[in-house]
This record gives sequence, structure tokens and C-alpha cells, in this order.
Amino acid sequence: MDIKLTNVNFSYPEKPNKVIINIPSWSLNRSEHTFIYGPSGVGKSTLLGLLSGLLRAQQGDITIFGHQLAKMSNRQRDKFRANTIGYVFQTFNLIPYLDAFENIQLASYFADTTSSASLEQEITALLNNLNIPEADRKQPVSRLSIGQQQRIAIARALINKPKLLIADEPTSSLDKDNRDKFMKLLMSVVKDKDITLLFVSHDMSLAHYFNHVESIQDFNQVEDKISC
Ligand code: ADP
Ligand code: MG
Repeated sequence: MDIKLTNVNFSYPEKPNKVIINIPSWSLNRSEHTFIYGPSGVGKSTLLGLLSGLLRAQQGDITIFGHQLAKMSNRQRDKFRANTIGYVFQTFNLIPYLDAFENIQLASYFADTTSSASLEQEITALLNNLNIPEADRKQPVSRLSIGQQQRIAIARALINKPKLLIADEPTSSLDKDNRDKFMKLLMSVVKDKDITLLFVSHDMSLAHYFNHVESIQDFNQVEDKISC
């Protein structure tokens, strides 16, 4: 198994008695396109935070492509994340006053990149690939449509050539038309580049795009009862 969680336990430090994640065993295979669904508040974003090393589990083991996250220093985890994992957020998290090119460039800052000339070529290739018109690349992203901003968010998540792409409800602010376009684009990119995709959402109407669908509540064993 390429992504594996064993006996993982997590609570937020502010509420140490409220267990958010309790996963005895869960795994994913490389190149799978996985859809994890569950209602709001069940721990989907927290799970993604643990997988990307942004959050640290109090207990248990998370192994991603043979690397045990708990054994890494903070610096090593930051490097590992930058080099291995692309992240598309619910609200895109683009820097509003930077243009498309600068937003993507920024994402390559922490990764082991090649020369700046080849980085420039790679960014241009990605923007071409995702159909961002030349004229739209030179203005602050806040002036672009939501659909365009989202394509830029995909480009940014791909710039470091991640093996794993994590998406946290990235379609929730889109209308149906833009949602369908976004999903088709995302699926064609991950197939084309052979990227493992882990996508979480409460929206079951997206499930048909994926070859592996699971409810987080089937493998995250937390009680409804909240003890404080
Ligand atoms: P989902 O993404 O499925 O909506 P989350 O992972 O965001 O769920 O949240 C799971 C639970 O953790 C919720 O009860 C939420 O209130 C709580 N939670 C989320 N973030 C924090 C935080 N930073 N500090 C404390 N509790 C949090
Ligand atoms: Mg969430």
C-alpha cells in the first residue's frame, strides 16, 4: 500500500478530549482516484491536514510512499510536502494581488526546483495546458473569474510535480457548469500525469468521477458523544 494509516489518533490541542480522528487502519494505492465523502464536521479537512503533515497525530503511523511522517523533523516534513503533495483548497488560497504566474512561482519556493529558466517554461506550459489566456496571466488573480482562479489553483498544485494531489471541497463555491468543467479538467490532468488523487467533499453528485469511493465515517471510528 502506498498511503497507509495505522492506529492514528488526533485531537486539536484546544480540545484534547474530543477525538476527531481515530483510524485503526486505512490505505490507498498509488494512481487511485479516491473520493471521500461525509457531512460537514466529521473530520475530512483534519484527515487531509494529517496526510499532508500540516497537522501531527498524537498517536499512530502515517506512511506516504514509504516515508513515515512521524519520523521527520518539521523541516523535513515541509520539504516532503512541497516535493510530493499538491493541495487544492476549498477557497483556492491564491494571493489576490499577485498574478497567475507569481502565485504558481511562489508554490515552487519550498520545493527542490531546477533553474529559474526551466521553472518559467514549466509554469508557461501549465498555464497553456489549463487554457489560461495570455492576457489573464498578467493581472492580479482577484480580477479573474472564479472558474479561472480555480484553474490557476490546479496549476499551482501541479507545479512541483506531486505524486499525490489532495483536494478539499474545491468545487463548493462553483455553479454547476463551472463545477463540471473543473472536475473534467482535474480528472484529465491526474490521468495524464499519473497522479494519485484524494478528493474530499460532502457532495455525492461528484462521486461518479472516481474509481474509488468511501465514506470517512466507515474508517474513522469516533463516537458521536462529545466529552469536554
Ligand atoms: P470537515 O472538513 O469534515 O467539515 P473538519 O476536519 O474541518 O471537518 O472538522 C472536524 C471537527 O474538528 C469539527 O468538530 C471542527 O469543529 C473541529 N475543528 C476543526 N478545526 C479545528 C481547530 N483548528 N481547532 C479546534 N477544533 C477544530
Ligand atoms: Mg472541511
